[in-house]
Amino acid sequence: MCGIVGYVGKRDCTKVLLDSLAKLEYRGYDSAGVAVFENSEIKVSKSKGRLLELKNKLENEGWIDGCCGIGHTRWATHGEPSDINSHPHGNRRVSIVHNGIIENYQKIKKFLEKKGYTFESQTDTETVAKLLDYYYDGDPMYAIRRVVAEIEGSYALGMVFKEFPNAVYAVRKDSPLIVGVGKDEAFVASDVPAILEYTKDYYLLERDEVVVLKNGKAEIFDIHGMKIEKELQTADFDLEAAEKGGYPHFMLKEINEQPNAVKTTVTPRITDGMPDLSECGLTPERLTRYKNIFVVACGTAMHAGLVGKYVIEQLARVPVTVDVASEFRYRDPILCDEDLVILVSQSGETADTREALRLSKERGADTLAIVNVKGSSIARAADMVIYTHAGPEISVASTKAYMVQISVFYLLAFELAYAKEKIDREECMRLTKQLLRMPDTINEVLQKSEQCKYIASKLVNAGNLLYIGRGLDYALSMEGSLKLKEISYIHSESYAAGELKHGTISLVTDGMPVIAVATQRKLYEKTFSNVEEVKSRGAMVIFVTHENIKADSKTVDYVIGLPSVDDILMPMPAVVPLQLIAYYTSVLKGNDVDKPRNLAKSVTVE
Ligand code: GLU
Repeated sequence: MCGIVGYVGKRDCTKVLLDSLAKLEYRGYDSAGVAVFENSEIKVSKSKGRLLELKNKLENEGWIDGCCGIGHTRWATHGEPSDINSHPHGNRRVSIVHNGIIENYQKIKKFLEKKGYTFESQTDTETVAKLLDYYYDGDPMYAIRRVVAEIEGSYALGMVFKEFPNAVYAVRKDSPLIVGVGKDEAFVASDVPAILEYTKDYYLLERDEVVVLKNGKAEIFDIHGMKIEKELQTADFDLEAAEKGGYPHFMLKEINEQPNAVKTTVTPRITDGMPDLSECGLTPERLTRYKNIFVVACGTAMHAGLVGKYVIEQLARVPVTVDVASEFRYRDPILCDEDLVILVSQSGETADTREALRLSKERGADTLAIVNVKGSSIARAADMVIYTHAGPEISVASTKAYMVQISVFYLLAFELAYAKEKIDREECMRLTKQLLRMPDTINEVLQKSEQCKYIASKLVNAGNLLYIGRGLDYALSMEGSLKLKEISYIHSESYAAGELKHGTISLVTDGMPVIAVATQRKLYEKTFSNVEEVKSRGAMVIFVTHENIKADSKTVDYVIGLPSVDDILMPMPAVVPLQLIAYYTSVLKGNDVDKPRNLAKSVTVE
């Protein structure tokens, strides 16, 4: 989480740093700061709060005039968000910004205290700054090497040294960093959008590689100081794509981008009307080898995995276990070389998922990453990758990434079911055709935006809410409930409809909203009985089902009718109203929709 930027060139460095950090706001942060060289001195300005507060402070207390420096948006892990805990940290000789967590900082701190160092912040980062100072003897590369050898945990570090007033140094392990190169200027940043205003060319920095920005150029070295030549990457999206394009919020823009995102993800993976994942190494021979499939992910990506489980098990009859990545890592999972572990992550940097991947490889399983960000850590480390082509997702609450993740699970399930002869070619082509038509189906559902807004107006004052469903509808309810919680701050639970009477129904009182999802026709009657149960206890029922199903108006208060596709594919159209309801509830409550409190887009810490 958080953002790091660094700049060396001819422009107003403070301005470049602030503008670039603004492009990383989507990652979530609670404070910000910069360190810029002015007359060969390191000048620092930092402040709790949004970037605007830092900008005001700089304008009031004196802009730092210089062409070389580092900047940071912090997402606090060690010590509350405050001016003092904000980065950069250091002293007059060295100053650093850090993303990640230093696990052995207590030990380092004790060591440094014995050497006479004092600490003013509660951060783990300050110990790295002081350790760097301790080892610094005039050679930054030497000090960096010593520090890297000692610190444990995850880090991306941006560093400046007083004696080198025209240079920025950076190194990373487990937290992302890219190196941007322009004409007579160079950058480091946590992600590509930060540099797009200036250049599209960048290098990916690997673990323990050190980059030095100097004289408008970037040079990359291994940790021993040997120069490395790297392949230059070119960003295939421009800044505009990363901006709102006329929508009031990124989230609404991204909800509306779903038809296109599905098209660009699915279409290239269809050959002669059949799913074809061979480009990612998933040939039918390889696919049929797996006895068990595990899906490991966090948050919304985990919910996409739950849809994947129902679909793969139903069609291909291969057992699928879905795990929350932070649990999987520590539950000592039983894996073997006949298992496939699928890691799902929008950013490809999710720390727990990345570690789950490492563990799965260690235990001999094959690994497949489903990620959105090209060249991300998870994509690079997995045996196979299927990229979702959703384009940049900026809103913290994920929508289009979920949609393309489930599209990939459908492709996988169809191909696997066919390869295992559980469905014939004709059936496989029929399902694939519906998937190909899905962009139109989703577009149809997007027309229901006004209705979702009206329903949201009925939810704004609710203190609690329930989402219920069975089978695939249950998997979907979980995502609907999470979306609402994330951005509206209304407490909600999702429940398997049949489980309600085993406890949770005691919560249902007069007027409590219950969103019931009933798109699985063979479970319809069962779910409807549960709807009757909550209605008779006073619930206000919002019913999501096929448009040709006529629900009893005495039992349901509002119906959202969806265009019919095969039941197995219904999660794709059915998630859209759940996203829109969450979105409008958040808007009506006046919340910061794209940047909900306490949340970050890319969770790169445990
Ligand atoms: N662990 C550091 C801190 O709490 C860095 C957090 C971040 O990644 O922003 O200051």
